[in-house]
Amino acid sequence: MKGRERKIVRLPNFEYLEPGTLDEALEILHVHRGNCSVLAGGTDLLVRMKQRLLTPKHLISLKSLDHLNHIRQENGSSPSEKDEVTKIGARTPLADISRSDIIQKHFPGLFQAIESVGAPSIQHHRGTIGGNLCQDNRCLHYNQSAFWRSGRQACHKAGGNICYAKEGSDRCHATCQSDGAPMLMALDAKVTLLRKDGQRTLPLEDIYTLAGEHPLSMEPDEILADIQIPLPGLGTGNAYKKLAYRSAIDYPIASAGVVVQTSQEKNSEPVIEKSRIVVGAMSSAPMMLAQASKSLEGKSVSDQDALKKAAAIAMDHASAFATDNVGSELGYRIRMVAVLVRRALDEAIKRARSEA
Ligand SMILES: Cc1cc2nc3c(=O)[nH]c(=O)nc-3n(C[C@H](O)[C@H](O)[C@H](O)COP(=O)(O)OP(=O)(O)OC[C@H]3O[C@@H](n4cnc5c(N)ncnc54)[C@H](O)[C@@H]3O)c2cc1C
Repeated sequence: MKGRERKIVRLPNFEYLEPGTLDEALEILHVHRGNCSVLAGGTDLLVRMKQRLLTPKHLISLKSLDHLNHIRQENGSSPSEKDEVTKIGARTPLADISRSDIIQKHFPGLFQAIESVGAPSIQHHRGTIGGNLCQDNRCLHYNQSAFWRSGRQACHKAGGNICYAKEGSDRCHATCQSDGAPMLMALDAKVTLLRKDGQRTLPLEDIYTLAGEHPLSMEPDEILADIQIPLPGLGTGNAYKKLAYRSAIDYPIASAGVVVQTSQEKNSEPVIEKSRIVVGAMSSAPMMLAQASKSLEGKSVSDQDALKKAAAIAMDHASAFATDNVGSELGYRIRMVAVLVRRALDEAIKRARSEA
């Protein structure tokens, strides 16, 4: 190319480690705690490394840990949990999730969320569900090349003490743009984390801190092993809606994951017994909107005023945390929260009724 030099962005140096067993992986993470990153598909991690946002000394690949790659139905993780759960191994490729009969049948909302991630090349060749949930938060002022960032003072997330997204803020507001997280939170998913000397199972929402610079509560020597989703009962529907610039490649700039559980009485209009509304891509963690969800309890599935009100409450709450740092106008994104929540509720109710 004459006159214009092609610039190749190289990865920084690191030691590549590919353990053959989970015990070996946990031992390595323990020994190199803090200097080591887990490599699943690499579609988030390697980009950040190329941008010098992260320079771990060691990368520990999950490539040979085949038992982290599965989708199956089992009983719950504790003896008190007799109900069936669907377990998804953290290293399961996104494409396997959207192709799965179990997911398509019981969790069409998760199918919608996963099918919308990036582009088919990410879903089919590399991206995993564990990486999707553990991906770093993003901000237009942070996810840039080292050269771009070198012209200005470091922001909170890059180790400095300034926020370009919210002037004067003493903390980072980078946004969680995972598509999988809000839908799995709405589905009441739990995750199991493993480390050398133990394991813990906790609700998915508990791994998110709401702190933009350190979005995950996981310890540096922990691996996300699997995700457990309770099997929805009869009369339950779920749906996911995403707003993005384009229908492919793009991260969400607002999203909504919704679950609606309806009553089963024959010969009467079903009522909403319970709902879970989660809004994504508006703040540093997906937002579980308890008040909007509660406002629907006991309301008829065709009560248009109640559905409209729930969507308006969701929009109000989301606006309190929303930050103008992922592109598009903030006011538009906030208004679209009401639209996405309403569309997701309508679709979830339709699915609940066809399930009843
Ligand atoms: C062009 C482009 C578009 C994209 N669009 C979207 C989108 O629309 N929606 C979306 O949600 N994402 C999007 N992504 C982000 C990413 O591709 C996906 O989220 C993907 O699922 C990440 O999975 P991965 O296996 O490649 O993760 P990796 O890059 O391997 O890992 C991501 C992070 O999670 C950690 N990690 C991975 N697995 C584990 C584990 N089991 N235990 C502990 N830590 C772990 C890694 O250390 C790393 O910090 C996009 C990326 C690109 C490059």
